[in-house]
Formats: sequence, C-alpha cells, structure tokens
Amino acid sequence: MSSLLEVRGLRAAYGATRVLQGIDLDVASGEIVALLGANGAGKTTTLRALCQAMVSTEGGILLAGQRIDGRSTEQIAKLGVGHVPDGRGTFLGLTTEENLRLGAYARTSRVGADADMERIYGYFPRLKERRVQQAGTLSGGEQQMLAIGRALMGRPRLLLLDEPSFGLAPLIVKDIFSIMRRINQEERVAILLVEQNARLALDLAERAYLLETGRVVLCGPSNDLRHDDAIRRAYLGE
Ligand code: ATP
Repeated sequence: MSSLLEVRGLRAAYGATRVLQGIDLDVASGEIVALLGANGAGKTTTLRALCQAMVSTEGGILLAGQRIDGRSTEQIAKLGVGHVPDGRGTFLGLTTEENLRLGAYARTSRVGADADMERIYGYFPRLKERRVQQAGTLSGGEQQMLAIGRALMGRPRLLLLDEPSFGLAPLIVKDIFSIMRRINQEERVAILLVEQNARLALDLAERAYLLETGRVVLCGPSNDLRHDDAIRRAYLGE
C-alpha cells in the first residue's frame, strides 16, 4: 500500500500550552489506523493539528506527498481530508439533508452530489428516513451517522474520526463500526480513528499508535498491541 499521510515531528500548542511534542505517524492509502491513549494524551489535538483546526502546529504533514501543513482547514478539506470532530459538529437547526449538502462544500465539483447522498443513505438508512428532520432532534447515534455522512460528502481520501462511540449505546456503536468497515472497503477511504474504547479500535484498525503526554510511546499492528502487557493492563482492562 502506498503512503497517504506522512507526519513528521508534529508539535501542536494551544497558545502557550504545548500538547504534541513531536509525533511521527503514517497512514497508507485505504488503511485504518487507531490512535489510543489516556484522557489528555493528545489524540483529539492530533486530529485537529492534521487539519489545522484550533491549534498552532510545527512539523511536516504530507498528504499523498504534498505538504498540507500551513494550509487552511478549508484547503485541507478540499485536498481530501474529512474531519468528524468530537462533539460531531452538525448544524442542529438544519435538517439531515441540509447538513449533508453542506458537506459537499469540500469538493471541487458538485456533480454527483445527489448520487453521493443516495450512497450515504445506503450506508445509513436511518438518515434517509429522517432526511427532513432537524439534526438537533436526532438521537446521538443518528447524529454520529450524520457527521460521518457529512464528511463523506466531501469525497475524502482520509477520514479523521474522533471518538465515534462517545456516549452511544453498545448496539449502535457496533452498527456504526461495522458500517465504517464497509465504507473503508467500498469507498477506499483511509481512516485515522481516535477511540477511548481500545478493544473496539484494535478490532477495526490494522495498526495503532499509543500516545502518552503528546508523544508516541508504542506503535504496531493491532494484533501485536492486543497482546502487549501494558496495553492489556491499561487499556483492555485485563
Ligand atoms: P480525551 O480522550 O480526554 O479526549 P485526548 O487524548 O483527545 O483526550 P486532547 O483533547 O488532545 O486529549 O487534549 C490534550 C491536552 O490539551 C489536554 O491537556 C487538554 O486540556 C488540552 N487542550 C485541549 N483542547 C484545548 C484548548 N482548546 N485550549 C487549551 N488546551 C486544550
């Protein structure tokens, strides 16, 4: 698999507060990679840094060989990075369909937007049933589906997914994760996944990175990390 995202020496700060201390990370085309770590380790900040949202950064970020650090969030979206932020970021006063249409802003051409929306409804039939419902009245799970659908409307090559399981019932989480696997395979979109639930994350991802206080302390294939003693004790509750 060819390299899609290459991150070298990434530092990030909120004002004077330094959070990322120099991270190296790679995602291959079509690959699913998880970012694990305790609260405050810097997982969300890493995703924000990759799309230059809310944090100042130093270091190199390449997407398909092209430098994207220093570009605007909008340019990065147009180059193919879809961000599903923590808190989901849907427009609560707009309908499901209006939210999805807004997701098309990140593409160079609107041609095919209706077909893409139908494809997204294929993955998430519940969104189709609720196409004229205000996003603010959707359940948490439906809002998560909408946030993913909206990012997909930008036709990303890389999807940055922040805690998709947060606050959701286990059955809905299982559903969303199996749809994510389908989306990865059918849309050939790579996924960088931040997830508190390490078990779920390691089941979905091929590889994972473990962050501690803004540094990568461990990385490798999910199968290896699943058997790592420190991961088992601290993150798998074994
Ligand atoms: P969690 O699993 O709890 O979401 P995380 O690994 O995603 O944790 P981050 O949200 O990246 O961690 O936070 C890393 C550090 O950055 C924390 O110490 C946090 O307090 C700080 N931080 C996050 N957002 C901001 C902000 N907007 N302004 C200042 N500091 C922030």
